[in-house]
Amino acid sequence: MTEVAFNRERLTVTVPDESLMLHFGANIAKAISVVQSLNDETAAEQALLITLSGDLGAGKTTISRGILNGLGHSGSVKSPTYTLVEPYELPLGRVCHFDFYRLIDPEELEYMGFRDYLVEACLCLIEWPERGQGFLPGADIEIGIIQTGEGRTLSLKAGTDLGNKIISRLEELKKEL
Ligand code: ADP
Ligand code: MG
Repeated sequence: MTEVAFNRERLTVTVPDESLMLHFGANIAKAISVVQSLNDETAAEQALLITLSGDLGAGKTTISRGILNGLGHSGSVKSPTYTLVEPYELPLGRVCHFDFYRLIDPEELEYMGFRDYLVEACLCLIEWPERGQGFLPGADIEIGIIQTGEGRTLSLKAGTDLGNKIISRLEELKKEL
């Protein structure tokens, strides 16, 4: 066994305004694309899972928009608050954007066929993951957003080896800027 011990990558960034939030989202998309292309031979049987936590108005939908735009989506990005999920067919594959804010019981995820989304999508972005507790597998990356002054502070935490690789790639991108 030559398994390298999983070291939990963490990254904290301060993002002062909306346009930089979109830019950071695009960088996440870039890091995902690079890592996915390197990992191609292990065609994942489950979607990459990124959760987004933070109060109402924290910027969860904004960063999702940055990620979706970065992955090639050029139209608008609706908040899935009422529909629970918005799917996008992008060059990388299907990307599903969820918002669990209105979930009353996490069991509703069972009825909506959440597991199928996880299998069929290549990336799932989930706002309000706390409300799906017990029905969500561990995230590859957990993003927490808090308001700091006029801007936002984001903390990214890897939960898997794949998440680790994406966060490391993101740090490299930061240095290249
Ligand atoms: P959420 O989905 O977390 O409820 P939204 O993404 O809808 O929040 O964003 C709420 C507001 O925060 C929007 O008006 C957006 O312009 C603003 N916003 C997003 N990111 C930032 C940021 N980094 N700095 C300042 N304002 C931001
Ligand atoms: Mg939102």
